[in-house]
This record gives sequence, structure tokens and C-alpha cells, in this order.
Amino acid sequence: MSHAAGTRVELPRADQFIDGRWRESNGGEPETVLDPATGQPLGTVPGADPSAVDAALTAARRAAATGTWAGATPRARSEALYRLHGVLTGMSERLLDVVVAETGCPLRLSKGQQVGLALRHLEHWAEAARRPELTARPPVVTPRPGGAATLGGWAVRREPYGVVAAITPYNFPLLENVMKLGPALAAGNTVVLKPSPLTPYSALLLAEAAEFADLPAGVLNVLTGGAPVGAALTTDPRVDLVSFTGSDTVGARILAAAAPRVTKVLLELGGKSALVVCADADLALAARIGAQNVTTHAGQGCVLATRHVVQHSVRDEYQERLRAALGGVRLGLPRDPGTGMGPLIRAAAVDRVDGHVRTAVRAGATVLTGGARPAPGTAPAGGFYYPPTVLTDLDNTWAVAREEIFGPVAVVLGFDTEDEAVAIANDSAYGLAGHVVSADPGRAFELACRLRTGTVDINGGPGYTNPDVPFGGYRRSGLGRENGTEGLDEYTQLKTIKYHAG
Ligand code: NAD
Repeated sequence: MSHAAGTRVELPRADQFIDGRWRESNGGEPETVLDPATGQPLGTVPGADPSAVDAALTAARRAAATGTWAGATPRARSEALYRLHGVLTGMSERLLDVVVAETGCPLRLSKGQQVGLALRHLEHWAEAARRPELTARPPVVTPRPGGAATLGGWAVRREPYGVVAAITPYNFPLLENVMKLGPALAAGNTVVLKPSPLTPYSALLLAEAAEFADLPAGVLNVLTGGAPVGAALTTDPRVDLVSFTGSDTVGARILAAAAPRVTKVLLELGGKSALVVCADADLALAARIGAQNVTTHAGQGCVLATRHVVQHSVRDEYQERLRAALGGVRLGLPRDPGTGMGPLIRAAAVDRVDGHVRTAVRAGATVLTGGARPAPGTAPAGGFYYPPTVLTDLDNTWAVAREEIFGPVAVVLGFDTEDEAVAIANDSAYGLAGHVVSADPGRAFELACRLRTGTVDINGGPGYTNPDVPFGGYRRSGLGRENGTEGLDEYTQLKTIKYHAG
């Protein structure tokens, strides 16, 4: 139990969940988990030591080999995932308390995008688990010399990889965890999940729920800890697939670590996405979308637009509207209904954001709004806050326009022609998301087709990550896709069985 910003939070057990049981492991590096809104400790979580990592992989391997999961019928796996979904739904108030406490993400956003959406994704995977394993190609008759003929055919079987190591970041911990274990388990794999050490509690709640839902032992294992635990999972030969969401720096390291064994790696990495605002756009809408992209979870979202690429003829008006929208945003506690924006995850994140802003300002950028740590009394004491910040009078070559800042900071860049807008948007090491605002849907669609990114939102898009639709990035934003049948396919091997029927 812990007090987080005045709310009593029932934290889960802080141990390793291995082979269906809780196990103490105090040899790894412990982490004091903080409430980012107040800077107060929520609790201490031990790191898994090498023997715990070994035990989790042994359990996952055995569960993958014995057929209790991979060999179960799709229907049985679906029923088990529905049970897990049912248990979690019954715990949703507690899930919300825990996620709000460990992320500092404002209550309304947490309810919808952190918890509600995670439950919706899990339900999707419970249903998707019913997908038949076998599909057939039509048999073919092949003439043989002498007038005889052969009847032959093909069956294509989807098989699980085996053991999936799932490594996740801190910003949407429950959703990111579910987006990995949902398709991995639905496809018949077993999972060792290692959440971010900054937000481990929602993964531990998943373990608690797996215990209540009677998931077979070893099917879902949860290890706590940081980089050493993650690194151990990416180099162990018992792991068949590494599914990672996080920064491109760590993603590249994981790809290299997995290369010697040619282990499959799925990577969902960072972004530096562009919001293209055309001159014909409804500027009130454009500024609302622009402001949302700066303030949502204090800019700690991989798909958020941090480069606002605006047609010159409307640039002044867009900037004025954006400044007005962001100037009134209140920094506050996540449970305060008047809060416009919550905290960053840790003091180091505030330092990183402030460092980027200072460097750009020293180099001549103009601050449209924000631009410095909050003055005393304008944000909750002890929390890790930084105001929404927009910089102008710079170009796309500046570090602040190229590097992922992962905080509430955006730059405004101008363009004259659509070709120029496309060139600026695509001139990035990343390629996760894009956004277009225009009154002409056909023009917006054509622009969307030209952006080299995994998703593009037109006029704000539907506003959430649909589990039925592929999600992922180009270039340094990742490898592979999550969600949709394409996301499920990533967790399956295809085997073609060729038969002779006479
Ligand atoms: P991070 O890369 O620092 O850490 C992610 C995870 O990797 C953590 O669990 C961490 O303990 C682990 N890790 C660190 N070093 C490791 C190593 N050498 N081997 C194995 N595991 C290791 O990311 P973060 O700061 O937690 O999250 C923010 C980043 O995540 C941003 O770059 C953001 O864009 C990205 N992100 C991407 C998506 C997406 O779907 N594309 C979604 C959310 C966040």
C-alpha cells in the first residue's frame, strides 16, 4: 500500500512471477519507483537476478514445449485470454489507480488510453486467438508420363515461434504490455515480460491477474529490472522472438544482440513526426490538434507530432492560435479535473527537455510559448513538470527538429509548396507517424500517401490505436507491425505441408 498524491493505491506484490508462482529475487538492482506528479516514492521493486531470468526462461521454454499452450486448441487459448480479460476488467479501478500513480498521466487520458484501451486490445486478442491454424491451397492434378496423373496439395500451418521476450517502455505501460502479450499468447507462444523499471506495477498486476485467471504455469512470466535483465533476455538462445518497444538507441542494441543467433526481432521505436497544416485547413481545428500533440501525456507519446510544418500564408495565424491554446494549460496533479497537462516521468527527463530547449534558444530559436522550467507555484511541488513549449525561427536541420525529445516540445517550420512540405516531413531519421490537416480530404489523402511513415492521421484521425489496424514505423522507427492480422502474423511461423493424395 502506498499514498500517491493523496490517493491510497493498492500496489501489487513486487517480486518475480515465474512458472505460475511468485518468487523472491533480491540479487538484481532494486528500483525505487516514484510518483512523477509528486516525486514521492511509491515503493521499491527488486530487480531479477540471473537465476530468476534463468528460471523464467526455463519455465517459458517448458510451457512452450509441453503443449499446454502451443498444443492447446485455438478455442482453449481464446477462453483463457477471455478469462484474463474478465479478471482485469474486474480490477479496472485498481489498474487505473496504479497506472495513474506510476505514470502521472492525467485521469481522463489514463482511463481511456491507458486502461480502457488496454482492456479493449486484450479482448481483441482473446477473439483473434480463435483463428484456425490450418489453411489449404487447392489440390492440383499433375499429368505423369504414360497417361497417369498425380493429385497433390498443400496445407499451410501457422505455428507459434516458442518463447517471446517482451520488453516495454514506461509511457503507456499497461497498453504496451498488453499489445505484446495479447498477440504473442493468442498465437500460442509463451512470454517472459520485462516492463520498464520506472513503471513496473502494471505488469505485476497483469501477473496477479494471470494467477487468478488460471493461465497455465509458465505461459506468462514477469521479470522486473532494467537494462541488464533486458540484455540477458535478448542474448539467451532459449528466446525465439524478441518483441521490443522503446527508444531507437536501445532497439538498435537489441537488434545487434540478437543477430548472432538470427533471432527474430520486432521493434517499435521512437519518432519525430510531422503535422502538415495546409493553407486551406480549419485553423481552429489545426491549432487544437497541434496543442493536443504537445500536451498529451506531456509529450511522452511515440506518435505525437513534434514538427508542425505549416504553409507560410497561414503560419502567423496558426502560431498565434497555438500560443493561445497552450498558454492557458495548467500543470497539475493527475487526479485534479483542472489539470491540462501532467508531469514527465523523472527529473532526468525534465533536464533532457530543458537542455534541448536551451541549446536551441542559444542558437537563435524564438520561444513562442513555455521555454523554461515552471516558476514556483505554477506546478505541483516535487513533481517533474515542464510547460508546453513551442519554438520557431529555426529549420529542419536543427537538433531540436531532428532528435526525439519525448517531452512537451514542438517546433514550427514553414513551407510554400506541397512538394516542400513532403520533403521536410520525410527528412527525418524516423518514420513512425504523420498528420495532415486540410479542408480537402482528397488532397489530404494524397499527401498522406507521400509521407514515409507507418501511420498518417488526417484532420486528427480517429484518436486511438485500433487493435484491428497495423501499427509500426519506417526507418529508425522500427521493424515489423503490431495489431491487426498483420500484427498476429508477426508472432507465427508458417509451415507448408505438401501432400501426395494419389
Ligand atoms: P528505453 O528504450 O529507454 O527502454 C525501454 C525498455 O528497454 C525498458 O524496459 C528498459 O529497461 C529496456 N532496456 C534498456 N536497455 C536495454 C538493453 N540493452 N537490452 C534490453 N533491454 C533494455 O525507452 P523508454 O525511455 O522506456 O521509452 C521511451 C521510448 O519508447 C521513446 O523513444 C518512445 O518513442 C518509444 N516508444 C515507442 C512506441 C512505439 O510503439 N513505436 C510506443 C511507446 C514508446
